[in-house]
Amino acid sequence: MSNSKRLRIAVQKSGRLSDDSIALLKAIGIKLNIRDRLLIAHSTNQPIDLLRVRDDDIPGLVMDGVVDLGFIGENELEEKMLERKAAGKPFEYEVLRRLDYGGCRLSIAVPNEMDYNGIQSLEGKKVATTYPYLLERYFKDQGINAKAVMLQGSVEVAPRAGVADAICDLVSTGATLEANGLVEKDVIFRSKAVLIKRADGELSEEKETLVNRLMPRVDGVLLAKE
Ligand code: ATP
Ligand code: ZN
Repeated sequence: MSNSKRLRIAVQKSGRLSDDSIALLKAIGIKLNIRDRLLIAHSTNQPIDLLRVRDDDIPGLVMDGVVDLGFIGENELEEKMLERKAAGKPFEYEVLRRLDYGGCRLSIAVPNEMDYNGIQSLEGKKVATTYPYLLERYFKDQGINAKAVMLQGSVEVAPRAGVADAICDLVSTGATLEANGLVEKDVIFRSKAVLIKRADGELSEEKETLVNRLMPRVDGVLLAKE
């Protein structure tokens, strides 16, 4: 698939990163004809195809060399990198640009009523999260013996449901935490969207030339928005 002559770029199909990623591609002059239900969108003026998938799939598609480039949040990228490393799968990639959207933080939050005096208060406790590798790395760095409990969704209700003592989840405003009787305590990872490139071997000369031609335009767009 990566042998295709057309540059393949993975973007989130629908979610927090989709609109800004598509807007950036359009701003650098790539004409796209996106039809909502389709997995693939072809550019009408460049040898570029978009693969529209769940954001969780994007790091793996890049690291396996199935696509050439991908737009992804650093939180998801780093988590999948650690997961793949632990599983003995390819985990290499190159960051082309850090972007100006998708900003959020991965934070530990505890129930309002919990007597919390720093991370050591979580010693021996369970913490629900969708990012177990990032969280366990943090516990290890802090010398804390706590357990990350993996939940794909409904992380913020885990303490009330008796599934965990605290949570570690993405926050941008804190409104969801407050609505669930939780208080943000420690930021463990700060994230933005990034544009990444596959690292396994060189891109073909044509693709490399195309990427090198597009990157200054990305810089131009980022600069204009500053
Ligand atoms: P998908 O269906 O593609 O798996 P999703 O529900 O996992 O979607 P979104 O909620 O769209 O993902 O979030 C995608 C990314 O947007 C996050 O991984 C993160 O990098 C970024 N992001 C920015 N702000 C927030 C926020 N407040 N909450 C969650 N993610 C955020
Ligand atoms: Zn996702």
